[in-house]
Amino acid sequence: MELWALSTVVLEHIDRPMKKHIVGNWKMNGSAAFTEALVSEISAGLSAAHAVVGVTPPSLYFSTAKSKATNGLLVGVQNCHEAESGAFTGEHSVSMIKDMSADFVIIGHSERRHVFGETDEQISAKVKAALSKGLPVILCVGEKLEERDAGSHEALVGTQTKSALNGVSAEQMSKVWVAYEPVWAIGTGRTASPEQAGAMHEVIRALLVELYGSEIAHKTPILYGGSVKPNNAEALLNTKGIDGALVGGASLKSDSFLAIINAAPKAE
Ligand code: PEP
Repeated sequence: MELWALSTVVLEHIDRPMKKHIVGNWKMNGSAAFTEALVSEISAGLSAAHAVVGVTPPSLYFSTAKSKATNGLLVGVQNCHEAESGAFTGEHSVSMIKDMSADFVIIGHSERRHVFGETDEQISAKVKAALSKGLPVILCVGEKLEERDAGSHEALVGTQTKSALNGVSAEQMSKVWVAYEPVWAIGTGRTASPEQAGAMHEVIRALLVELYGSEIAHKTPILYGGSVKPNNAEALLNTKGIDGALVGGASLKSDSFLAIINAAPKAE
């Protein structure tokens, strides 16, 4: 059984804490040799891991990563296009990603939203395209610093989440993880405190309860992302409502990524 499916089974009982979900987002970093080495090192360190773990190398190195992944390490991609095929130079469709046996796709990362100008509508279309083909999704949401300073962060994240999940069925939610990633904490070294992150996770969970009911809401992993490092992972991952971490910079070295994974508390 795939680790992904296994995690769903583990989540059967909503009163039990779920396994933590730790995903590395490599962004546009690495080389073929780097990918082989890092995936091998991470895989080797997972033999006793008690978490669901994934990595997302640049798409060019996806097959390299997949060929080296063992011990249940999931390999995903960082983006997809919403169309099935066509004149979209440089893009990859969900069918192509499925064809390569990717375990999941990240959609709506803040760099896609704010560097590449993806809109809520586009992100919603991508989520639907992925789920319609059964490709699991990590949906990223998060506010910019000015939105937090203005006190509009909860409303903004609520709108992003609602928009992205518009048209997503209760059944499809078994293939959705949400990642709360405040933009001001990504790649800045400035982390949301466990209280700030926990509070936003509660907001997202409440929204999921409203949209899908309590059982699905509590089975949906909500990850925190934004400068998660070995020295803050334990506090964040022990915070109520934080089901895992989406890790950028610290996922580029096996020792720091494995230290974060090992900081995850065990599900009872
Ligand atoms: C990210 O890219 O999703 C991320 C959280 O990056 P970092 O951990 O480097 O802040």
